[in-house]
Order: sequence, then structure tokens, then C-alpha cells
Amino acid sequence: GTERLLIRMESRSQNEAFARAAVGAFMVRMDPTVEEIEDVKTAVSEAVSNSILHGYPDEPGEIRMELLREGKRLRIEVTDYGRGIADVRKARQPLYTTCPGSDRSGMGFYFMEAFMESVDVESQPEQGTKVILTK
Ligand code: ATP
Ligand code: MG
Repeated sequence: GTERLLIRMESRSQNEAFARAAVGAFMVRMDPTVEEIEDVKTAVSEAVSNSILHGYPDEPGEIRMELLREGKRLRIEVTDYGRGIADVRKARQPLYTTCPGSDRSGMGFYFMEAFMESVDVESQPEQGTKVILTK
């Protein structure tokens, strides 16, 4: 059967851990390996931390995480309504970051791609960003 879970959270750094835990719990019914859970948690962490740090750099806003499962197929959408990305293709390149010199390394999208089967990004400046991860 199909399962769906929708979580709305404020863009606070503590909620990155909550998102990780939620996706781990959601995946239990898929009978995953420990490694599979860790991979998906890592990808979700990267997407949620991007929404927290880059989507809402000034004041907190809402992040939605939608989890969909059909059998062994998993689809995760992380959406914010924040600053958005002007050039998605550029943003996805490894080592590209708009926060150089900080502890950002520009590897978030690269990790999402490495750990998931597909990564789609829909974004509009000042409208927000949606990252769709599948496994
Ligand atoms: P790292 O993830 O390694 O800490 P990073 O977040 O800068 O560094 P990526 O996660 O690959 O690297 O993201 C690349 C760039 O894409 C970011 O620097 C930012 O400019 C932009 N970006 C990513 N997600 C969002 C978002 N939700 N809203 C606005 N900009 C974003
Ligand atoms: Mg990042």
C-alpha cells in the first residue's frame, strides 16, 4: 500500500535532527538496511539544513517535509517558501556555495545526489525551493 506523512516545521536548527528521526521512523516499514536509512537521513539533513540556512537566512519560516512510500519506493519533498535559488544548475555544482569562508563547503547537493537515486530541484527567487528526493 501507499503511505504518506506531511510534517510542517519551523526553520530552526534543532528541527534538522527531528527531520532525520522522522524519516528514519517512516522508513522502518520498508524493511531497510542500516546503511539505506543512514543514506536517506544524510540527504534529508542536507536539504533541510539548506532551507534553514539559505532559504531563511534572516528570519525563520516554514519548512514542509512530505514523505511518500509505495512499496519499496520512497519519495521525499522538502519545501521552503524563502529566498529561492537564481541559478539551480550552478547551485548544484560540487563546491559551489554562496557562503564561502564559513563552514559551508558546497557539498550538500552533491551528497544528496550520491545518496539518493534522483534529486530534482524547483526554485524561484523570493518564492522558495522544493527538493524532491527519490530512492
Ligand atoms: P554545505 O551543504 O556543504 O554546507 P552549501 O549549503 O553552500 O554548503 P549546497 O548544499 O550544495 O552547499 O548548496 C549550494 C548553494 O545552493 C548554497 O550555497 C545556496 O546558495 C543554494 N541553496 C541551496 N538550497 C537552498 C535553499 N533551500 N534556498 C536558497 N538557496 C539554497
Ligand atoms: Mg548545504
